[in-house]
Amino acid sequence: MGCSATDIAEALRSAAAVIDEHRDELVELDREIGDGDHGENMKRGFTAVLSTLDTAVPDTPGAVLKVAATTLISKVGGAAGPLYGTAFLRAATALGDRSELDAADVATALRAALEGVQARGKAEQGDKTMVDALVPAVAAVEAAKGGSVAEVLAAAADAADEGARSTVDLVARKGRASYLGERSAGHLDPGARSTALLVRSFAEAAK
Ligand code: ADP
Ligand code: MG
Ligand code: MG
Repeated sequence: MGCSATDIAEALRSAAAVIDEHRDELVELDREIGDGDHGENMKRGFTAVLSTLDTAVPDTPGAVLKVAATTLISKVGGAAGPLYGTAFLRAATALGDRSELDAADVATALRAALEGVQARGKAEQGDKTMVDALVPAVAAVEAAKGGSVAEVLAAAADAADEGARSTVDLVARKGRASYLGERSAGHLDPGARSTALLVRSFAEAAK
């Protein structure tokens, strides 16, 4: 695909559909090691992103990501709202006013998103959070030099899936799940799962 503002808006619409399909699964995962609201938080946020985009689609990819960021920050709440909001905002800022994205821009944006999440939430890889899905996704994009946007995002989605699965064995050291200590082990982290779903939805949209 080309990767214009309209393509990014389309990718966010498909992300909203995927979050909607997986709402109950995310609620269930968060019920096991958190407070059971992650699916609803994410659904509320992405439904609001859809309405924002229905009003008007800004004219650069960065500007589209920026309205998504501010919408997520104001609607999602909990830990995930500010974290995803920061991720999208940092990605938007990193893209500046570029009008068409290539694979290198995707790498820049994802790296910025990860740095934003870590600046805000202070989680390292291995703490059983969305960072465990994002770190391998960024590494995969940076390693897949020379591919198309669709190819690097597909590699990122595979890596994010694997990273999310790796959270099952981990003991949570950040967020609500950390209150459970050792009892958090044996469960998939809901935020790592939603990150993997989002990266997969972007990869599918880029095909
Ligand atoms: P809350 O825990 O406030 O109810 P959510 O349920 O929406 O918020 O989101 C929980 C997810 O947020 C966790 O599964 C985890 O992936 C992520 N998370 C929580 N704290 C952090 C943090 N400090 N850094 C990165 N991700 C975090
Ligand atoms: Mg929760
Ligand atoms: Mg909550």
